[in-house]
Amino acid sequence: MKNTITLLGSTGSIGRQTLDVCRQLEIPVAALAAHHSVDLLEKQIREFHPTLAVLYDIDAAMELARRVSDLPVRVAYGMEGLIEAASLSESGTVVAAMVGMVGLQPTLAAIRQGKRIALANKETLVCAGELVMAEARRSGAEIVPVDSEHSAIFQCLQGCRDRGEVRRLILTCSGGPFYGLSREEVYGKTREEALRHPNWAMGAKITIDCATLMNKGLEFIEAMRLFHVPPEQVSVVIHRQSIIHSMVEFRDGAVLAQMGTPDMRLPIRYALTYPARAQSPAEPLDLLTCPPLTFAPPDTEAFPSLKLAMDCARTGGTSCAILNGANEAAVGLFLEGKIAFGKIPELVALALDRIPVQLNPGLEDILEADRAARKIVCDSRTAG
Ligand code: MG
Repeated sequence: MKNTITLLGSTGSIGRQTLDVCRQLEIPVAALAAHHSVDLLEKQIREFHPTLAVLYDIDAAMELARRVSDLPVRVAYGMEGLIEAASLSESGTVVAAMVGMVGLQPTLAAIRQGKRIALANKETLVCAGELVMAEARRSGAEIVPVDSEHSAIFQCLQGCRDRGEVRRLILTCSGGPFYGLSREEVYGKTREEALRHPNWAMGAKITIDCATLMNKGLEFIEAMRLFHVPPEQVSVVIHRQSIIHSMVEFRDGAVLAQMGTPDMRLPIRYALTYPARAQSPAEPLDLLTCPPLTFAPPDTEAFPSLKLAMDCARTGGTSCAILNGANEAAVGLFLEGKIAFGKIPELVALALDRIPVQLNPGLEDILEADRAARKIVCDSRTAG
């Protein structure tokens, strides 16, 4: 299968692993887009020969254009460039792997063109899930999740002819590096400690989200949107080994689980080749040597971000965009060393407290909620 792809977010963790899969399966790449990493994007262009390359940052794009002037590749920049890459007619699949809200508009553009979306940008579904899924239904665009939990659920649902048979989606959660600690013990944790994830190698933003459990909260909302289930039908269980990537419980009591070693290239490969399964060079899971599988309930007292997200899942409207925007801004401040780890959920709660929620929002309302949330988080800093 040789479905040409556009890769949004090619220099990030998911982007680089997507290119590993493209290299292995010889999948052609029509466009590559990234935020500002000139060196790595140049290298990728020289290897994968896209016709279009985009850097969101204009100065970085100018520098890139100068460096690749010997190649038949056009260089674009900004949101317009991202949207152009997402809409490219030769791409059948758009891999949406940009970090954060910046991925929303390009993803919507690709959906409107009826392309397959290999979706790794969870913020898109968290902030604008209802809008995005409605557009996908309208255009017939297929959304195949790349997030390992949602890929697991997607895989468990293959062959399920009646969604009424699904009783519950069970998201597994590694618990992150601070599992078992109290709220007080977690509060002053440093950037270095928070960036040490026990099982998965990922980008900085998502690794911090894993440490606060906000990542699981965002995935809770993502699961509701992707699979059209109410919050009562989604649950979270701590599974420290990250061997079971998530489960589906059916009404007859059967529980299907998808298992594997924690390697993002599996869900990426599946999103690109679905409904087929392609050969993987990775070592398969060895049941005889893998650690015993354990399960426990999440501690929302020590990790309030998860509870905040579950509350927003129930509230709906712009609350999820407020949650996400405040969290992105707070994680940014934490990574810059400006706030304590325990301050992240506090700032998210503050934004949710201050900004009124609008139900049935349009795209502009969502973008405005996101802006307002970021502003409250940043202003709280200058206010001391
Ligand atoms: Mg995940």
